[in-house]
Amino acid sequence: MAEETLFSKIVRREIPAEILYQDDLVTAFKDIQPKAPHHILLIPNHLIPTVNDVTHDDELALGRLFTVAAKLAKQLGIDEDGYRLIMNCNRHGGQEVYHVHMHLLGGRALGPMLA
Ligand code: C5P
Repeated sequence: MAEETLFSKIVRREIPAEILYQDDLVTAFKDIQPKAPHHILLIPNHLIPTVNDVTHDDELALGRLFTVAAKLAKQLGIDEDGYRLIMNCNRHGGQEVYHVHMHLLGGRALGPMLA
């Protein structure tokens, strides 16, 4: 059984976070160390440690991340100019929190992806 991270506590609202969206499957909240004018993390409510652990049972929640990302981008007014979605996996991917999450970054031109 994988160990919970602080993201599970954010989902259960046991620790504070600026939650922008939540439903039965996913939660979206502002990243505490934003790398762009808009930096949101979108996570499945249930714990999946890394993308390597994804199974068929997770497909609905992970698909929801995209529909919520698109909805939030529109709400923030960054859909037309565009934005970037990133998921890091394990050490070489730069993953720090072992609860799968999608970064939504926007509000400025982000430049080449692999800097
Ligand atoms: O993809 P990675 O695991 O590196 O990203 C973790 C992200 O979680 C970081 O951008 C960090 O700022 C964010 N974070 C957060 N709130 C916390 C702890 C980490 O937004 N309490």
